[in-house]
Parts: sequence; structure tokens; C-alpha cells
Amino acid sequence: LMTQQADIGLIGLAVMGQNLVLNMTDHGFKVAVYNRSREKTDEFLAAEPDNENLLGCFSIEELISSLAAPRKIMLMVKAGEVVDLFIEQLLPYLDEGDIIIDGGNSLYTDSQRRTDYLAEKGIQFIGTGVSGGEEGARYGPSIMPGGNVAAWASVKPIFQAIAAKADDAPCCDWVGDGGAGHYVKMVHNGIEYGDMQLIAESYHLMRYGLGLSADECQTVFAEWNTGLLDSYLIEITAEILKFKDEDGAPLVDKILDAAGQKGTGKWTGISSLELGIPVTLITESVYSRCLSALKDERIKAQAHFGEIPPTPAMSEQEKAEMLQAIHDALYASKIISYAQGYMLMREAAKEFSWQLNYGGIALMWRGGCIIRSTFLGEIKNAYEANPELSNLLLADFFSNALQKSAANWRKAVIFAIQRQIPTPALSSALTFFDGYKSATLPANMIQAQRDYFGAHTYERIDAPRGTFFHTDWIQSG
Ligand code: NAP
Repeated sequence: LMTQQADIGLIGLAVMGQNLVLNMTDHGFKVAVYNRSREKTDEFLAAEPDNENLLGCFSIEELISSLAAPRKIMLMVKAGEVVDLFIEQLLPYLDEGDIIIDGGNSLYTDSQRRTDYLAEKGIQFIGTGVSGGEEGARYGPSIMPGGNVAAWASVKPIFQAIAAKADDAPCCDWVGDGGAGHYVKMVHNGIEYGDMQLIAESYHLMRYGLGLSADECQTVFAEWNTGLLDSYLIEITAEILKFKDEDGAPLVDKILDAAGQKGTGKWTGISSLELGIPVTLITESVYSRCLSALKDERIKAQAHFGEIPPTPAMSEQEKAEMLQAIHDALYASKIISYAQGYMLMREAAKEFSWQLNYGGIALMWRGGCIIRSTFLGEIKNAYEANPELSNLLLADFFSNALQKSAANWRKAVIFAIQRQIPTPALSSALTFFDGYKSATLPANMIQAQRDYFGAHTYERIDAPRGTFFHTDWIQSG
């Protein structure tokens, strides 16, 4: 038996696991590590000869016996069945009150299931989102834990110490029961898809609508990064545009325009459909990646329909005004995207009986993760000012911003449509806004059609809600 007692054990020494471990040992926690393939553990230990907080283990049994009670074991392994595999391997060695933490990108329904399953066995489970990639894991990720709240007190000091800090507060706090942590992480990833798509569409408009060079676009994004749009993704966009290939040409021009995806955006879209919440911008962003991936078909279709005509010449003044319009369209659409994400989380909280702290979530995303931005500070302020806020769009800061941007937003979308430049995120955000603020929509026609062909019944505007009518639409005579 080991005499040395570690504060936490970590299984899975790939990129994320290694960096999290070093972050923990930097903060003075003693970490016992284990990996399925022994070589990775050997290499990791060899690279850290002077790290006294690191304890290498070569079996599950050894890992377990090196941990102080209640034992905390964090999994940073491939999401999916591998997590269940390790849970089964750990179970025979665990005592009541021990804690298993899954820090991978697991589907929230899996975390829900694992919380319940382990609770039956007296084992506490935490399913936590960890955001920020390799760099975040090493120097401060955003951490979104959910699961069995009884486990939180033991894990909190470690997680809040290693998490990113924004305004001196850790970007980590308890999210909620069961799958809540991974749900919020999923929405975070969906919002990341949306932010990236909005930036890509804005870039497309600048480059092929206004005819700016990559360098000119870089200047614009760098400038935007000093204002309302100040964020990690705008910052790296400027960096990317500056980057030259070996021949001196912008590297971005040589990258194939077919986007990949790992599934968290898709999960967000699926959940939005299941819960009946119109999360149009994120879902359009997922579809845009799908459309981009049909590169060969797009090449054929362009040959079939012909190239888009070039933009007529614009004066410098017109260009500058259109750039401002694109800026405002991006900003307003971003507001819509976050509002939709929050609508989704609110509905999920209702459905799964979670008590979500919406301002706290904004704070967790404020630092350490890919969507970090000053904008999230405004969301936190809005929920702090009114924790019962029904929709972000109705908070003063955001409704004023939308009203201020609206004319330019329409101008940019009209420009895109006239120039035949696809802007599914910018334009669906606008159309969502127009729908959301319409007391009247044409769904009366939908209801009439449903009743006509399927006798699905309808409600009347002049009768109490919940009273249903049916009409025999085909009048004989
Ligand atoms: P990964 O490539 O997702 O997973 C590799 C780890 O899983 C290795 O330790 C590997 O062990 C283990 N593993 C895979 N299949 C296994 C099996 N059948 N049995 C036992 N162990 C198995 O690693 P990662 O990129 O560091 O990510 C870890 C988790 O964090 C994932 O859920 C990922 O989605 C999530 N995440 C990643 C990022 C990122 O930027 N990469 C960001 C946030 C969250 P061996 O060494 O023995 O193969």
C-alpha cells in the first residue's frame, strides 16, 4: 500500500489529461495518474522528472490505493463507451462516497444515466464540461460540472483553483443535477459553431462582396477586436488572415473550404428540435458545415448555374459604410444566437428540473473557453440585474443594441442576397428577430390547412385558449 496519498486520480493521459494534470500539480495538488497504454504514462513521467506532485500508477488497483478518501477519480478519455468501460473497472475497488468525474465531451443523457446508475451503488458522479482545448486545460479552462451535488464540496477547491479566472472569479461553478454540466457544455459548443459561422460569413462578405484583400480583412477584424466584438474568436480570425504560406500568399486561401465537425453542434440542434425551441442560428451553422462539405457537388453546381457576377464598383465611402453594416449585422446576430442558446437552456432546465444560474453560466464562459468575450460580461450583468429575465433580447442592453443595429443589419443581409453570397446565420438571425417581435404570424393559415386536410382542429382568437374548433371546409352545395 502506498503511504503517499494523492488528492485526485486522473485516468487518460492524452492531450487534455496531461495538461489538466500539470495544471493541478502547479496548484499544489498531488495527482495520481493512469493510462490504458503504459507507454504514455512512462513518457509523461519521464518528461516531468522534478514534479513531486505527480504519482505514476500502472494499474487501476494501484491508482485507487494511492488516493485519499473520499477518492476522486477523473476520467479524461474518449467520450462514449470508454467512459462506461472505466466506470466498470473502477467500481469493484471503490467505497461508498467515492467520486468519479467524467471530464470528456460526453452526451448529457449519458451523464444523466451515469449519475443515476452510480448513485444506486453509493458512488457519486460528476459529469463536467471542460472547455478551452489544450491551452485551457494547461493554464485555466472553463469547467462546467454537474451530476451529484453531494460530490461538489470535495471537488470544488481543486476545480476552482485550476479554472480560468474572469474578473478574479473562477470560470467554474456548480451547474446542476445529472446531465446539467454536459448540457451547458454542449450549448457552449453550439454557440461556438454559431460564432464561427457568423465570422466566416462576415469575412465572406468583405472578401467577395467588397473585394477586400486578406490583409485588409485582417485590419478590419483587428479593429473590431478592440470594440463590442472583443473576443477570442475575432482575435484569432485576424491572426489567421495575417498568416502567410511559404510562397507569401495568405494560408487561409489555400485551405480547402470543407468544414469538419465532431458532433456537439449537431447535439445542440437535435436537443432544440426535441424541446421545440427555435435555435435557428446554431442549427444553420451546423447545416452550413454540412453544405460546405459537399465540395464536389458545389463545383458541379457552379459549372451548371454559372459563377456569381462580380460586385459593381463601390466608392471607398460606400465600402466603409458597408463594413460598418456587416459589423452591426454580426453583432446583432450574435445577440440572437446567445438569446436562442439561453432559451434552450431555460427549456432544458424546465424539462429536466435543473436550477440553472444563467448569470453564473455567462461568467463560466467569460474566460478559459473558445467563446470567451467581453460580450459575456453583458449577459452576466443582465441576469444579475434581473435573475427572472424571460429572454435576453428583452434586457435593456441587448434590446437597445438590436434597435441600434437593425437598419445596418438589414442593409448587410440585403447586400448579401443581392450579391448572391450565402449568409444563413446572419439572415436567419434577422428573420428570427422579425418573427420573435411579431405579435401576429401566419400560423393561422397553418392551423387552417391542418384542420382542412387532417381535422387537427384550431383555436380561435375570439374564444378562450384551450377551446378547439373543427370546420367542415369542403362545403357541399
Ligand atoms: P482522446 O483522443 O479523446 O482520448 C484518448 C484517451 O482515451 C487516451 O488516454 C486513450 O488511452 C483513452 N482511450 C481511448 N480508447 C480507449 C479504450 N478503448 N480503452 C481505454 N482507454 C481508451 O483524448 P483528448 O483529446 O485528450 O480528449 C479527452 C476528452 O476530452 C474527450 O472526451 C474529448 O472530447 C474531450 N475534450 C477534448 C478537447 C480537445 O481540445 N482535445 C477539448 C475539450 C474536451 P490510450 O492512450 O491507451 O489509447
